[in-house]
Amino acid sequence: MNMTMNEKELMGIRVTVHRGTNQIGGCVTEYECRGFHLFVDYGEQLPGYEQTNLEIEGLTKGDVSHSALLITHYHGDHIGKVSELNSEIPVYMGKTGCEIYREFELHMAHIPGEEGKKKRMVADRVGKFRHFVPGLSFEVGPFKIMPIVMDHSAFDAYAFKIEADDRKVFHTGDFRTHGFRSKTLPSVIEKYIGKVDCVVSEGTNIERSKDAVTKSEQVIKKEFTEGFKENKYNVVYVSSTNIDRLFALHHAACTAGRMFILDEFAKKMMDAAANVDKLWGKSRFYHFLGGQQAPKVLWKDGVINDTFYQAMERHGYVLIARASDKFEKLLKKMPSEGRKTYLSMWKGYVDNPESPAYNKNLAEAVGKDYVHIHTSGHSDVESMSKLFKMLEPNVIIPIHTNDPEKFAKTFSEWNVKMLADGEVFSTNPFGDIPVHEEGDIVLSAISIAENQELDDVKISSVDENLKCWKLDYKDIGSFCYTEQAREALKYVRANKNVLAFEIWEECDFTLILGDVYRRDKTLYANLDSECTFASEEVAMAIMRLPFSWYLVHVKVMGPATKEALKKVHDEGLLDVGYNSFDEFYEHYEPISHYEPDMIVKPLIDIETFEGKVLCDLVPVRYLFPMDVVEQLQLKVK
Ligand SMILES: [Zn+2]
Ligand SMILES: [Zn+2]
Repeated sequence: MNMTMNEKELMGIRVTVHRGTNQIGGCVTEYECRGFHLFVDYGEQLPGYEQTNLEIEGLTKGDVSHSALLITHYHGDHIGKVSELNSEIPVYMGKTGCEIYREFELHMAHIPGEEGKKKRMVADRVGKFRHFVPGLSFEVGPFKIMPIVMDHSAFDAYAFKIEADDRKVFHTGDFRTHGFRSKTLPSVIEKYIGKVDCVVSEGTNIERSKDAVTKSEQVIKKEFTEGFKENKYNVVYVSSTNIDRLFALHHAACTAGRMFILDEFAKKMMDAAANVDKLWGKSRFYHFLGGQQAPKVLWKDGVINDTFYQAMERHGYVLIARASDKFEKLLKKMPSEGRKTYLSMWKGYVDNPESPAYNKNLAEAVGKDYVHIHTSGHSDVESMSKLFKMLEPNVIIPIHTNDPEKFAKTFSEWNVKMLADGEVFSTNPFGDIPVHEEGDIVLSAISIAENQELDDVKISSVDENLKCWKLDYKDIGSFCYTEQAREALKYVRANKNVLAFEIWEECDFTLILGDVYRRDKTLYANLDSECTFASEEVAMAIMRLPFSWYLVHVKVMGPATKEALKKVHDEGLLDVGYNSFDEFYEHYEPISHYEPDMIVKPLIDIETFEGKVLCDLVPVRYLFPMDVVEQLQLKVK
């Protein structure tokens, strides 16, 4: 493929976080490739932040014919500003989340005046969204997008793998791993996402971690069940769009034998999840129990007749409430002896009148004497770390966080790139330096394949401190000149498993192993390097066994001089596959482009289909001191 220099510079994906690098909410992230603008989320800022008006080429202004918008979920800080956009921009969202959001906006459309009008407009706009299906990739411009479901306090929330030009980015959206639907995440990541170059990750709980409660939804459900068993009359203030929590409350009420009472709006929200045909409808969790246990939907939002009153007295109840006049009036008409009030939302809404997040109506409704049962919709540090380990990105960009510095410190074993709002980050492996025509200089990286099955060879060791790792080998690029390869190396990001980089160069029509660099990109050894290992010294060596490369504990036997080779051969330690040593040595020279100039003896038993490896020949540049693995910060089972 012939490309102009300009085209090559445009290769890869450029990531711009227009808003959200140092705040929670107001999210807008752009992925740009070959002039196409793919945006993820266009949300409102949360109260308490300096409100900014964004002017974004391809989104709020200019040519929008090469733009599209993906919505991760229906929380206002991700979708809130969508109705302001040019209607020519196609918007993609999950179907169920879309329905829930539309119902929610329609419910608010009865507010008189401008605000109600705006809500109706939003509902209209949302009705025109396109839908994607989890696990089914789709194409938009040069991008291939794979949506997967993430567990979050919003139902039907998504993360995206965004692929273009051989680059892969994973955009987490808001997520957690302690919900009802989190268990499958590792297998979903493995099946649909795999390894990526870059992760754009939410970091809400980085600074909230102290007071953010991340107990599981299962525990929350149990606490409610116990509370409802103990108390006859219960009122729960909970977000109507927190579908998982609503169903947990329904099941908890049933287990405790209490009537589950809610208004038509909350029921509609739950219906949206219960009636999804394929995705969640199958789950028993998103089903209403029937008969006596069926939810009681308030008639005309609050008429209570004698029969209903008596039933409440007999069974007790769990009322799903919101802070409004309607519920205040209703509560006065319901049996109330020993009634308990629960808040099942973030405490920040009610506990500090000075806080910008303070909700006066809600604070008054729950009063001072309430029980707080809640867990965060966002991931804790440990689960984020687990996710990153699965994705193995070269770079992580934090968003949706108040404290990107703390994020970077917390995940210091990773390459965390803190961007400023509006700053462009290029995933082009060569950064801004031009990629040259295919040449004969090859730059490549060798990394340890973590937790891989060593299935090609049989390995056994009596000493558990002695190890053998399989290696991954990846070409980074081809160049005309060694200098260009060295320059390109500066722009390559070292994955945490990278053992070394190497440059192979052409010499008399054969490729020879030239420079070997440490993972910090300082030169480790080159063609002229002398062996610094003493005879009998224990070291780590890269060995090329049939089919795969391995990093193995070895004993250095010394340079591969003719005498030394003859000695190990005569001792039966070197199986050269020739009838005689002389015959072998005659053929030894021509393969010298690999320059296996050191004799090593593996300290563990390695058996390939060709037999046991007693001694082997490796280039001196493939011999590393023992501490090399510790530098990789690899955790080995
Ligand atoms: Zn959010
Ligand atoms: Zn959210």
